[in-house]
Amino acid sequence: MSKFFSKKYASLKPYTPGEQPKGRKYIKLNTNESPFPPPSAVTKAVKQASKSLHLYSDPDNTELVNLVAEKWGVKPCEVIATNGSDEVLNFAFMAFCDGDTPAAFPDITYGFYAVFADLHGDPYQAIPLKEDFSIDPKDYMGVGKTVFIANPNAPTGLHLSVAQIEEILRSNPDNVVVIDEAYVDFGGESCVPLIYKYDNLLVTQTFSKSRSLAGGRLGLGFGCAKLIADLQALRYSTNPYNVNKMTESAGVAALKSEEYYQKNVQTIIKNREYTKKALRKLGFTVLESKTNFLFIKTAKVDGFKLYEELKARGVLVRHFKGERTGAYNRVTIGTKAQTDAFLACVKEILKENEV
Ligand SMILES: *Cc1c(COP(=O)(O)O)cnc(C)c1O
Repeated sequence: MSKFFSKKYASLKPYTPGEQPKGRKYIKLNTNESPFPPPSAVTKAVKQASKSLHLYSDPDNTELVNLVAEKWGVKPCEVIATNGSDEVLNFAFMAFCDGDTPAAFPDITYGFYAVFADLHGDPYQAIPLKEDFSIDPKDYMGVGKTVFIANPNAPTGLHLSVAQIEEILRSNPDNVVVIDEAYVDFGGESCVPLIYKYDNLLVTQTFSKSRSLAGGRLGLGFGCAKLIADLQALRYSTNPYNVNKMTESAGVAALKSEEYYQKNVQTIIKNREYTKKALRKLGFTVLESKTNFLFIKTAKVDGFKLYEELKARGVLVRHFKGERTGAYNRVTIGTKAQTDAFLACVKEILKENEV
């Protein structure tokens, strides 16, 4: 840290992204990316957009936002487009939390929530998950704080029903409830239609997981016009060109390639169920999942050791240190070939650790 770094950031603990290895080629099952590349319609659109990179992008992302509004059945003023959904989450912490209005989110969830809260000096309450890693909606009823819930949750893969989310919304009319739907396309149920019933609901989604655009950085926020206007004020005070030309074009082309993504999502769901069954047969505890990953543990090998042994064999998964998460690993669902390679390594590791 230089002597010039502001004291207000002295205790900042930045988010640790999953490894993006260089050099050795790994089977990457550690950051919940899609194993499928974007369709050619997307790469063509990006190339086309690159020809006008000498001009600024449209700060309103009009083409993208209008198409999103049409597809999701909302009005353009109820949508915000951001540089990944991380950015809209960051704006939500800025807009809806402060010293008088702390944040509340599960103790085991997306690690960025605590980082954003700390970045902005917002106090927060980390509410423990139940013993079975599920969220107890009762813990959030009338909590009087700005609620952040990933639904389905990460890294557990478990989800709440829309009816349970509604109870949380109804019991906190004076606080914003943010529902992070990064994984909703893998079998969850979206809360977006609820924006017409609850003026305290913000829903975030991303093109990073089901739409094969993690490197493009495109996220969305949905809420009533007034909530979205708050976020737009922050976006225009930060970087009105947050979604660049190529990303906007990629997003538009992606929304016109729905069939391609639907097919991929179905493949991933099929591979997920196949992997879950195979791991349970090997004696693993595997949490139910409505996402593109599984949260798994075995009594036979320590969580961190399994991570290391897999890495030594060229397979990357994500391990989270911590009292309750340390025994587990989070494994992204890839192609069938990737899954089979992962399972073969797991079998080998179990065999070597037999007692
Ligand atoms: C991946 C992820 C995000 C954000 O992804 P972006 O690439 O910034 O859109 C947000 N929330 C959760 C729970 C995630 O897993």
